[in-house]
Amino acid sequence: MSRNWIGEIMLLGALLFGSVLFGVFFGQVAWFLVFALALFLARWVWQMYRLDEWLDSRRRQPPEAWGIWGHVFDEYHQLQRRQYKSKKRLARVIREFRESTTAMPDGTLVLDDSFHISWCNEAATRLVGLVPRRDLGQAVTNLIRSPVFAKFLSTGDFNQALEIRSPIDDARTLMLRLVPYGNHQYLLIIRDITRLVRLQAMRRDFVANASHELRSPLTVLAGYLDMLASGNELGPEWQKPVSEMQAQCRRMTNLLNDLLELSRLETDETDASDEYVVDVDGLIRRIFHDVRAMDEDKHVLDVDIDPDCQLRAIEGELHSAMSNLLTNALRYSPEGTTITVRWFKSDSGMAIFEVTDQGVGIEKKHIPFITQRFYRVDSSHSRKTGGTGLGLAIVKHVLKRHGAQLEVESEPGEGSTFRFVFPADRVVRRSGLPD
Ligand code: ADP
Repeated sequence: MSRNWIGEIMLLGALLFGSVLFGVFFGQVAWFLVFALALFLARWVWQMYRLDEWLDSRRRQPPEAWGIWGHVFDEYHQLQRRQYKSKKRLARVIREFRESTTAMPDGTLVLDDSFHISWCNEAATRLVGLVPRRDLGQAVTNLIRSPVFAKFLSTGDFNQALEIRSPIDDARTLMLRLVPYGNHQYLLIIRDITRLVRLQAMRRDFVANASHELRSPLTVLAGYLDMLASGNELGPEWQKPVSEMQAQCRRMTNLLNDLLELSRLETDETDASDEYVVDVDGLIRRIFHDVRAMDEDKHVLDVDIDPDCQLRAIEGELHSAMSNLLTNALRYSPEGTTITVRWFKSDSGMAIFEVTDQGVGIEKKHIPFITQRFYRVDSSHSRKTGGTGLGLAIVKHVLKRHGAQLEVESEPGEGSTFRFVFPADRVVRRSGLPD
């Protein structure tokens, strides 16, 4: 028991003892006892009144008191001070957070679990034309009226950022990133990437223009070299250099063609009118025919195609991606090995194009990078076999434009499997009914 309580009990005891003594002396024990208890009660009521009055007055200093009531006043005072301090700290944190988000060039919106706006910073008002008085509490889709954005929210997959045109200025591009936090709340971060997009466009245009300009002189050089090679007046000492120059000319032409193809894939925007139902069976057979001629029967080519499975796609791009996989399989596999091509519909309804080889394979650490431009696991082998280092970058872009995924499984020294996985809504049965 605390010292204060002992004091209080001793006070009560002293009062009772005194009242009994006086009561015996005057022959009125009961009345004296009642008087003593009333005195004690009056003290408690008085101290409660002081406590109440102090809390109401919001004075800093608590009233002075002795014993248990002094302890109660002090404890209350300490509690108040602690609360005041933590309130001050919280207010400072909120102020600093507001100041830092206000200074941030990126727009920030706090959304609740049904994507209604609860809070925004100043940059958000500038980037998407948000008016706090009007828009706070509204659904964010009322502010950013883009079908792509609405679809992005409905998917629930917020790992990827989304690029959209600004709702208030068509010339500006915004990157949106949604970060879930706390109890089903979201932070929508909006960044203006107009400059970056313009720089990328400039780079693409530059590469496309430079490739285009280089093409004509190269055609002239290749023409003269062909003429020299086919004429009789070339001495034997010139035959090897000329044939080497022809090979380098071919390499440069392939490189320019791939660069142009890549820049076209990056620049052109596709829409549904570019796509139609492709007879993939026929397409693979045509690619096979060309590849066989190029390979001169050095490999065993095995094919397993579901002729009923057709695909809504851009045929030219599909041709380019599929033949890239097949030529890679030939170039990275020793003679006499088997290359298997499969085209089928998976159990989940997706269309799969798969090329499996028994070639050199790829170490795991390289696989995430092989779709980057000019990334080669073995540069000299790639160059020797006529690789441009751009084949899989083209494949990646084609697949992206078709909403498809690239899967790679490989074991060094044993071979590789490259797989295109097309979404089920692109699959069409030969009868013409969508699958
Ligand atoms: P490249 O023209 O050099 O073949 P790609 O973009 O087509 O360029 O491929 C990138 C790299 O990926 C290649 O340099 C090669 O190292 C590796 N690669 C691609 N396909 C295969 C394969 N079937 N087997 C082994 N390695 C491969």
